[in-house]
Amino acid sequence: MAKKGEQDEFYELFGHLFENGEFVGLKEPIVTILFKCIDCGTEDEVPDFVVDEFSYDLDEGEEVETECPACGGTMRKAKTNPK
Ligand SMILES: [Zn+2]
Repeated sequence: MAKKGEQDEFYELFGHLFENGEFVGLKEPIVTILFKCIDCGTEDEVPDFVVDEFSYDLDEGEEVETECPACGGTMRKAKTNPK
């Protein structure tokens, strides 16, 4: 057995990566954002963190755009809120 103090410190730092003593790693669910092609209507789910990366290059007020895998057109965030 490892010395108790060390183990406590270890779990304090990395305990969130374990479940019942087994390493589970980072298992946060991937959040996806729905994009829709403004040319052909194809919908595609883009992981949240990818959208964030695209956002860094944008000027204020600009929307993230991705390339449509179906037609090569422009995809933008789909408005999921009906209002
Ligand atoms: Zn398209």
